[in-house]
Amino acid sequence: MDIVLATKNRKKIEEIKKIFDLMGTASRIFTLDDFPVFEDVVEDGDTFEANALKKAVAISNSTGMTAVADDSGLEVDALDGAPGVFSARYAGENADDSANVEKLMQELKDVPAEKRDGRFVCCIALASAEETKTFMGYVEGTIGTERRGYNGFGYDPVFYPKGHKRTFAEMNDKEKNAMSHRAEALRELQKYLLEKRGYISGF
Ligand code: IMP
Repeated sequence: MDIVLATKNRKKIEEIKKIFDLMGTASRIFTLDDFPVFEDVVEDGDTFEANALKKAVAISNSTGMTAVADDSGLEVDALDGAPGVFSARYAGENADDSANVEKLMQELKDVPAEKRDGRFVCCIALASAEETKTFMGYVEGTIGTERRGYNGFGYDPVFYPKGHKRTFAEMNDKEKNAMSHRAEALRELQKYLLEKRGYISGF
């Protein structure tokens, strides 16, 4: 099955492709870069599900292909779930990863270590002419007080997955992808496709 990933984020594309590889599956994967005329979908939903579905449905409708979209972010308990769906633009509309991490460090500056729990959340939406469906993945962890490591993206340098003494940014791709929120959501997607559609070719 050919699928189109409804994202232009190179890091996410690489991660998702690597996860498909780790699953030992081969698909022809297209991305929005293969459809340059397509305009960005505005992510104005209140939930990860709403945003992922909006993207997947829009891309599937306009390409006629099965589309897979992801929406993800970081929820921090001490901040009542923020940055949440605003993770990519926490420090402002055009904020980069570094500015977003800096804002998070500021917001948490008076919060002690034992109260810095949070989680990465990922929703993967599948949309085709026949159906739409969403799959969730989570990874629990703690937010550190300073950046560590250079791998990954986003909040990886300050996120310690539960039970680990290294941040996601100190782990290699394989380690992160074995436990990440995105990998879990993609596994759920794969399970669904296997059960419902009864075949693995392409996934
Ligand atoms: P999205 O493109 O709307 O899904 O934005 C997700 C944002 O959440 C990213 O820009 C990152 O700031 C953050 N995020 C999501 N997944 C990860 C991850 O695996 N590591 C670090 N940050 C992440």
